Amino acid sequence: MIRGSCLCRRVTFAVDGLINGLSNCHCTECRKAYGSAFGTVAICKKEDFKYLSGEDLISSYKQTERVNRYFCNHCGSPLPIKEDCDSLIGIPAGLLDDNPKAKIREHIFVKYKAPWWEITDKIPQYAEWSTESSPANRKDITPPGVN
Ligand SMILES: [Zn+2]
Ligand SMILES: [Zn+2]
Repeated sequence: MIRGSCLCRRVTFAVDGLINGLSNCHCTECRKAYGSAFGTVAICKKEDFKYLSGEDLISSYKQTERVNRYFCNHCGSPLPIKEDCDSLIGIPAGLLDDNPKAKIREHIFVKYKAPWWEITDKIPQYAEWSTESSPANRKDITPPGVN
């Protein structure tokens, strides 16, 4: 069981399963949502994820037709992205209280990277989605317009 919580710890959740991987996303939206050089997202299966407390404190911002950004309305922490159309959940990795026992596997959306941040590690970099993470290559995402 891997547990996580927001800054004020009112919203708590658990993953009863594996974290499939960690991605550093350098897209403009993640940079703004995380207020940081990039967002580190831990991916897990929806069926392995559950909220333990504070679900009534979750607010959302509709970023696009298909993507919402969730946050704790008490402390402002970004919260996991959990959508009906997607079988995977993206958890802001900084929320995790337990070791996810996974390492960063990729830098994605590097073409939108902050000019003041230099990537100095050897982890693979992708201009946008990697082949593995691209919604276009995943059979488990409901195509746009179906919902
Ligand atoms: Zn909070
Ligand atoms: Zn992003």
